[in-house]
Amino acid sequence: MIDGFGRKINYLRLSVTELCDLRCRYCMPEDGICKKPHKDVLTEEETIMAVTAAASLGISKVRITGGEPLVKKNILSICEKTASTQGIDEVCMTTNGILLPKFAADLKNAGIRRVNLSFDTLDEKKYAYITRTGQLKAALRGLDHALSAGFEKVKINVVLIGGFNDDEIPALAGLTRKYPVDVRFIELMPMYEGNGFDTSAYIPCSTVTDVLEDLVPAAHDGGVARLYKLPGAMGNIGLISPISDHFCAACNRIRLTADGHIKPCLHSRDEFCVKGLSYEDMTEQFRRAIMSKPEMHCELSSQSASRAGRSMNKIGG
Ligand code: SAM
Ligand code: SF4
Repeated sequence: MIDGFGRKINYLRLSVTELCDLRCRYCMPEDGICKKPHKDVLTEEETIMAVTAAASLGISKVRITGGEPLVKKNILSICEKTASTQGIDEVCMTTNGILLPKFAADLKNAGIRRVNLSFDTLDEKKYAYITRTGQLKAALRGLDHALSAGFEKVKINVVLIGGFNDDEIPALAGLTRKYPVDVRFIELMPMYEGNGFDTSAYIPCSTVTDVLEDLVPAAHDGGVARLYKLPGAMGNIGLISPISDHFCAACNRIRLTADGHIKPCLHSRDEFCVKGLSYEDMTEQFRRAIMSKPEMHCELSSQSASRAGRSMNKIGG
């Protein structure tokens, strides 16, 4: 479907849970979040109905996310049903990777084509600090399993945090030489108050091109990242700059939260509820949401927080 600003909206980010086995400082509060009662989250049937409604309006790509999608009990069934929904050509997942040793092969069989794995450091102590509870070796084991499961593409998401991992840019980028993976550096977005970082933690993606002098531009793949490559690397380096160079004009996505709210824009408070609706009413809500997608998120900057009204784990990243 074409939105009010001429953009073709064909990509749904589907959050299946707000819960997570980690507590990344930039994403959620230390005490995690209260588990919502079942009646307040989409059932599997509603989730698939929503995907079908979205597909009827031209959504063809779905990224399953969270919270951590792999802590969701019926995740394989959701993946399988999403992948076999008429009109859906591609289903991918973003995960912290911790549970990939258990799930990677089954996810591939369920129809997941690509996997993005998130970790922000190659230092065990720093990983434990940023995730509050995690172990780097578990995430790296997840990477191994993602690579051997035979996904079409594996990407690593790194949130750039000044004073935390800017000294690791060469090492993290070097993963594209060691493995057939893309590494994507993402600018830190101020999503919620009290996330433990002051505004100096934000650094622009241009820091990566400043540090890695031998990067050469690579062909654009239609996504939101600007792509580069290190000489001799197997994968690309992607730069995702929601703050220094927002990509609103090319935004093709909408989001559905685990509690059943369509978010036309990550950084806007506007939401359209589909919980409890019939298929026809869900389709109408998707149509309204797409038509109300704002032209851009002008308020977000390194100094002023997102107006999303939710922490990232409650949206889906
Ligand atoms: N748990 C999964 C994971 O971590 O990959 C999926 C959900 S997570 C919310 C999706 C993505 O959002 C991750 O790559 C994470 O690093 C990113 N993210 C979370 N909070 C962010 C923030 N404040 N700024 C930039 N990226 C953020
Ligand atoms: Fe969990 Fe992902 Fe948020 Fe980290 S970024 S707390 S792994 S949802």
